[in-house]
Amino acid sequence: MPPKTSNRDEFSKQTKAILEKRAGGVCSNPDCKVFTSSAHTNPEKSSSIGVAAHICAAASGGPRFDSFMSENARISVGNGIWLCQSCSKLIDTDAAQFPVALLQAWKASAEDTSQKRIGQKSVSESEHRSEVMFAYGKGMLAHSNGKASDPTALKSAIKGHERSLSDVDPRFEVSLRSYQDGNSIYEIVPKPGAVSMIDLLLLNTPSVTNKVRLLREYGKSTELPPESYTMVIHPKNN
Ligand SMILES: [Zn+2]
Repeated sequence: MPPKTSNRDEFSKQTKAILEKRAGGVCSNPDCKVFTSSAHTNPEKSSSIGVAAHICAAASGGPRFDSFMSENARISVGNGIWLCQSCSKLIDTDAAQFPVALLQAWKASAEDTSQKRIGQKSVSESEHRSEVMFAYGKGMLAHSNGKASDPTALKSAIKGHERSLSDVDPRFEVSLRSYQDGNSIYEIVPKPGAVSMIDLLLLNTPSVTNKVRLLREYGKSTELPPESYTMVIHPKNN
């Protein structure tokens, strides 16, 4: 270990690089997930907005500092989380809001995602939507006459299908999110200004309560069976 120049237990260059790669080069905050590096205009350089942040602070008095932790544990990969600059500031500004268990859950989830993503294509949201439409279109064709058709015609057919679903209740916009194994998953989003509030009355069962807790505490997306909730929509009074 090189000699310490301050009382902070800093991560080595190698530890930082490992943290970045384990997170897949993406901020580990589930509400953020921005990419943290890019090409620089100087062809010899790269740009980064990523930070290897300490879960338990690098020095006594810092956020989530653990005096029982050894120096080796404090500078290990296990005590780091890869974040963007703003999220790294956020977790240290009000440490009580971002306890060790929450940051470890973020890290585990980001690493789980990076493991699933390796070797997969990286696509933007609009590219993803276009691919979903294409897959859905192929599925529709398979159920019809099986003849090949041009993708533009398919896209407009799907858009028309979404529009007719949106017309069922003009307060909501319906769009196709994914198409897998013959099942279409739709996203239903209230149109701006159309709805003032949506109440979700949930069934009080351990399974529902646990899913909602994960959603509220860790921002984990969740799926609830239709019999587990009642939705009350409050229209906007104009
Ligand atoms: Zn972030």
